[in-house]
Amino acid sequence: MATDWHAREIGTAGGGDDRVMPRRSRPARPGEGDTHAASRGTPSVADGLRQWVWRLISGDCELVDAAEFDRRLVASYQVMLQITLMAATVYYLVKSVTYYLVDGLTGFLLLGSISLIIAAACAAVARELSKRAIGRRELELRGLAMFLMIYLALVAHQLYHFHAVKLILFMLLALAVATASISHAVTLFSFATCTATVLFFAGQAGGDVRTQYAFVAFAAAVVGFCLTAMTRHSISREISASLVSDWLRAEAEYLADHDMLTGLPNRRQFFRRLNAMLADRDSADAPIGLAIIDLDRFKDVNDTHGHLFGDEVLVQIGQRLAQACDATCFVARVGGDEFAVIVCEAGDPASLVHCGQRICAEIEQPVRVRGYDLQVSASVGMALEETAGSATELLGRADYALSRAKDQEAGIAVFDAEMAAERSTVSAIEQKLRHCDFDAEIHFLYQPQTDVLTGETRGFEALARWDSAEFGPVRPEVFITIAERIGTISKLTESLLRRSLEAARAWPEPLKLSCNLSIRDLESPAAVDAICRIVTESGFPPERIEFEVTETLVMRDYEAARQALARLSALGAHVALDDFGVGYANFGHIDQLHINTVKIDRSFVARLKDSARTARVIKTMIDMCATLELECVVEGAETAEELETLRALGARNVQGFFYGEPMAAGEIPAFLARGTMRRMADVG
Ligand code: C2E
Ligand code: CA
Ligand code: CA
Repeated sequence: MATDWHAREIGTAGGGDDRVMPRRSRPARPGEGDTHAASRGTPSVADGLRQWVWRLISGDCELVDAAEFDRRLVASYQVMLQITLMAATVYYLVKSVTYYLVDGLTGFLLLGSISLIIAAACAAVARELSKRAIGRRELELRGLAMFLMIYLALVAHQLYHFHAVKLILFMLLALAVATASISHAVTLFSFATCTATVLFFAGQAGGDVRTQYAFVAFAAAVVGFCLTAMTRHSISREISASLVSDWLRAEAEYLADHDMLTGLPNRRQFFRRLNAMLADRDSADAPIGLAIIDLDRFKDVNDTHGHLFGDEVLVQIGQRLAQACDATCFVARVGGDEFAVIVCEAGDPASLVHCGQRICAEIEQPVRVRGYDLQVSASVGMALEETAGSATELLGRADYALSRAKDQEAGIAVFDAEMAAERSTVSAIEQKLRHCDFDAEIHFLYQPQTDVLTGETRGFEALARWDSAEFGPVRPEVFITIAERIGTISKLTESLLRRSLEAARAWPEPLKLSCNLSIRDLESPAAVDAICRIVTESGFPPERIEFEVTETLVMRDYEAARQALARLSALGAHVALDDFGVGYANFGHIDQLHINTVKIDRSFVARLKDSARTARVIKTMIDMCATLELECVVEGAETAEELETLRALGARNVQGFFYGEPMAAGEIPAFLARGTMRRMADVG
């Protein structure tokens, strides 16, 4: 069955195939539900008094859920009654024998048989209590029935032959009930009945017996009250503690599995669920689909509105995804602004794309936070489990598709055979780059930057080239990005910088060397140290070096970049903002980042012939540089017409194929000589 994302607007709690998609709500905090002490409205004096007495005998159980508390209380008293009845069984078995020994056969037949019946009844009820849990009312009734049976046996004994001393047994019975009975009513009833009976028999006996047993009854009542209170108190405390610890355990489990901000399942639970689903799946089942959703430019939302605002946006988007997700999907937050959706019955790639479109449409609905309407968009990378064996592999594929989705306008990509081939090349390149001898394998070409007014060369930008024996020529964007990801970029930059400085030493003054830096080079103080050291050791004048950084990269870790660029400036080197105009161009950054030069991205020149407006945009940027006293280099001039237009717009420095494609270091002297000749011819 193809996924019908949003086919039903189903809430997040429960529902659907719980075997596949159990959803767990946060455990209720003890005290969140109905509580023993829950005061509905302001408590009256009588309520307060009742609560005080309750606490005295039951312990402080304000924090526990009343129904669960009661269930556990009944269970505890069930055990107590069971133990008491087992003791009574033994007692009455022994007693029936003593009747025979003391009273002979007649005594045994009259009283011993009653003892045997009581022993059998106690044993039967004790056995039943050990087998199944019963309710409070049933427990009360059994307790009462047992009490009455034993009580009547005691009465029968006293009637058969009275023993004043055995009147104490009534009070012992009442004390046993006080300890083992869950019901205060039964306890009170047993005390009242036993006390009245004792006083009756003692009154009949007269004399000292009456007075003594009046005291005994009084003492037993006091002890009985104490026993009831102490037993109930300690049981209640233990139950309260166990409820709190159960809640803490449930809460800890919940926290371990859920994202605290959105309440959605977290990465840990996501992986567990995905692994379980992959393991459960058999070949006849529809494939499982995985979507990784990354919010576009979410960092901007945080930067512009603050992190608390960003958090609220994430919460709303998380809720929306969860609500839109039916029981065949599983939504989790797997990273800062990344969500994942597992689709149980994903169908084919087309229905997966449809699902991705639904997700995007859902996210693109305006989010209202603090009265502000914000529109967020997302990129979605998707993969189908057909051959991907493990959760990690499936996630890797969806992640790869996500990186492709980010480059596409549609913002949705499903991992396919082409991506699979690309990905395996990338991972082979990755392997190679980890152990690559950069000095031996990667070389430089140098592209001139030319002053369009004088025709003089301003300098050269060093551009890395890798002609791999294994993969052929690899584009710098590709291997630089991979080197950044696997953390070898600083080593690469150092090697490139050292060699290009060495080459530039041969150039006549005041020709500049432009070197590209990656954000990774700026993020680490150790990498900046190494760059400064290489510059100093090279002996090349720092003021003839221009480090190029792109604004988009700088914005990834603005503060680190700002500090690093300040250090390079302090060294005397210049800083150029590369690819200007396509990122989040912000003049404030130019000021703070110690920028000396702005390089207008070559996409503007490429659009010159199609749009008159582009010319005005380029002019604005050139004028802005002039106002800010920055140098300006326009990139990408390929034709004489483009150059003429740029000249008319006031451009001074141009880098592009018109003046020269990137060339080997050995070709530079000839290139410079040709330039000099041309200028001389022009003058002539
Ligand atoms: P970039 O810094 O913007 O370099 C300019 C790119 O534009 C170069 O591509 C260059 O060959 C190309 N280009 C120059 N003029 C023209 C033109 O008239 N038309 C067209 N179509 N293209 C032109 P390349 O060498 O492929 O470099 C691509 C990117 O790779 C560079 O863009 C830079 O971001 C990065 N890169 C290259 N070498 C290095 C390096 O050593 N370190 C670092 N971190 N990045 C490098
Ligand atoms: Ca550059
Ligand atoms: Ca550029």
